[in-house]
Order: sequence, then C-alpha cells, then structure tokens
Amino acid sequence: MATHTLEDIRRDLAWTREQLLQRLSRLRDDAGHRLQPLSADAVDRAQETQNDEVLVRLERSTLSLVNQYQHAIERIDQGLYGLCEECDYPIEAARLEAVPQATLCGVCAGPVNARAAA
Ligand SMILES: [Zn+2]
Repeated sequence: MATHTLEDIRRDLAWTREQLLQRLSRLRDDAGHRLQPLSADAVDRAQETQNDEVLVRLERSTLSLVNQYQHAIERIDQGLYGLCEECDYPIEAARLEAVPQATLCGVCAGPVNARAAA
C-alpha cells in the first residue's frame, strides 16, 4: 500500500473536489435548458422530462460528493483526518485508501458503506 502524506491526500481531495465542481457547473448549464418551454410533441416532452430527472439526480449526488470532499479537507485542516466523526477511533486504512473522503469508520458508516470500502 502506498503511503501518502496528509499533504498528498489533501491535494488529491482538493483536486477531485475541483473536478466535481466543474461537473456540477456543467450539469447546471444543462439544467438551464429546462427554462425553455417543453416541446409540443408528447414523446419529446416525455423524453425531456426524463432527462431533467436524470440531471436533477446527478446534480444532487454530485453536490453531495462535493460536500463530502469539502468536509474531508476541513477534517485535515482541523487535524482530525482519519478519525471517525462518530466514535473517534481511527478509520480503517483500507477504507481510507478506497474512500479517501470517508469521515466515518466502517462500523459507523454501516454495512453498505463498509462493504463498498472492503
Ligand atoms: Zn466509528
């Protein structure tokens, strides 16, 4: 396993957050088209509505990721990175390797997230 200094991790987190923010602004550009009137054609209209829902979902999940990365960067700045926010125990190294923005240990994050990071 490669060892990363906190500085490396912080840079990676900030870089990823930057990419996510760019994606978010592209998504919002696309969403701007929603302001235009829907097509008169019913089939087009259904398709447009569906696309809008996908965009909204994507926007929401991207925003939540941005917040996670932002939060992890703040934990580094507070000297708390790698500690579980819930139980204060160190987060498993393998989990941090897989999910660098994690702020909960595998136990506190619950079985779904623990499996994803395993
Ligand atoms: Zn915990």
